[in-house]
Amino acid sequence: MNICLRRALALVLVLCLAGCNAAFSAGARSEAGRRDIIGLPQAKDAVTVYYRSGMFDNEAAAVAREAGQYVERRLAQGVEKAAVVFDVDDTLLSNFETFQAADYGWNECFLTAWRDAALTSSFTGIRPMVELFCRLYDRAAIFIVTGRTEDLRLATMDNLARVGCPGWAGFFMRSDADREASAREFKTGARRAISEMGYVILANIGDQEDDLSGGYCERAFKVPNYMYVLP
Ligand SMILES: [Mg+2]
Repeated sequence: MNICLRRALALVLVLCLAGCNAAFSAGARSEAGRRDIIGLPQAKDAVTVYYRSGMFDNEAAAVAREAGQYVERRLAQGVEKAAVVFDVDDTLLSNFETFQAADYGWNECFLTAWRDAALTSSFTGIRPMVELFCRLYDRAAIFIVTGRTEDLRLATMDNLARVGCPGWAGFFMRSDADREASAREFKTGARRAISEMGYVILANIGDQEDDLSGGYCERAFKVPNYMYVLP
């Protein structure tokens, strides 16, 4: 090998090592800059701990307390035909066990298990919200507004009764005609209908932004949901 060829090879080697080093340094910097990103398995574990440790119950209780205080204050001011609206899933009834058992996958396995639980009225109640429901039941008209479909009406009513909800003034579910409407459109339409009956909706309580946007209520209260955000 002549001297020129040796020098050329040496230069290529130096350039390669420099390139590798630069790429390694960039990778290390990049990884260091992403330390705030949690891995998916760890994220699922964190959500499970959040729901199983009582943290969710504590946060739900804080929301219930705030909503209850607001409604009580408005009732004390003499509001006539006062109403409160509750969503069902992950507001009054918890989907956590079903969703966790499906490893938080929004897939056929989860949807089948969810429907089985819905048809057998076997979801557990979210205690602070059910207690708020019971506390306000004699003092305001309670309306249920849920994205569940009409075929689940009796099973849903039965499930709510089982967890301790004593009754309601109205129960809005999606009919076939509502299937094309978005959750926001359907739920806003239901609150509009309640308002047109002369009720003043003091509080609207749900776990998704689509439960809460769209107006026709004085205050909206969001129950935490770290499992999913509906599109
Ligand atoms: Mg919900």
